[in-house]
Amino acid sequence: MNLTFKNRVAFVSGAGRGIGREIAIKLAEEGCRVICVSKNPSSCGRVAEEIKASGACAEALPFDVSKPDECKSACDAVLKNYPQVDIIVNNAGITRDNLLMRMSDEEWNDVISTNLSSAFYITRNLIRPMMRNRWGRIINIASISGEMGNAGQANYSAAKAGLIGFTKTLARELAPRNITANAVAPGFIETDMTAALPREIMEAAKANIPLKRAGQPADIAGIVTYLASEESNYITGQVISVNGGLGM
Ligand code: NAP
Repeated sequence: MNLTFKNRVAFVSGAGRGIGREIAIKLAEEGCRVICVSKNPSSCGRVAEEIKASGACAEALPFDVSKPDECKSACDAVLKNYPQVDIIVNNAGITRDNLLMRMSDEEWNDVISTNLSSAFYITRNLIRPMMRNRWGRIINIASISGEMGNAGQANYSAAKAGLIGFTKTLARELAPRNITANAVAPGFIETDMTAALPREIMEAAKANIPLKRAGQPADIAGIVTYLASEESNYITGQVISVNGGLGM
């Protein structure tokens, strides 16, 4: 299927590695001008250079999405350079796993601010021109942990479930402006995030997946690109699970 993109401007957080990198590359291949965000300048810088080397358009924008002030100044800078951002992909995320009784305030707060509050700060700061333009796509990367819960991830599951509620509310608020908002909930995807898991946990997880394997970043980038295209114009407020059948 050929997807339609009309020289859109896309903002992708967590574009330095893993799933976000793949999303940024795929949107750029479709002709979007992609603003690649990561915390470390080197990771989003590398991805933006890779995209530019392929002849497509990208720029690197390193900042900490968990900090409201940094979100405000980064988004203000973006809106000085572009009339509006058309596609927002809130993908940046971290894990700080621990059992509830051992979980520190810091582990809780770091995950909530990076995985949930960041989507609020970024979307709020970029939304006005998108609303005026009466076209937009907001795609939030949630997780199967936010749909089902996961032992050791009270912070992460709460943040991802919160992101789903946030998405559904945006879908209702912004529908009159022709802006759709959807969440994508990956299962186990092979990235640096899952590489940090002990081997036996990863093997046990794969054994529970009906497709018997982990997913790849491209499996997520494909559906995100579809949700960002013109063709998805009647899909809003949905959570698309991409998990090899885990948790069906
Ligand atoms: P990853 O490989 O660890 O990459 C995370 C990206 O987010 C990096 O580019 C990182 O920046 C960026 N980031 C983290 N904290 C940030 C901050 N405070 N400010 C700015 N950028 C920040 O992760 P991934 O596996 O691709 O995961 C991407 C998203 O998918 C996350 O939201 C994750 O929760 C979700 N997800 C992943 C899986 C999975 O199995 N992998 C499953 C379900 C959901 P740097 O490069 O600068 O460090």
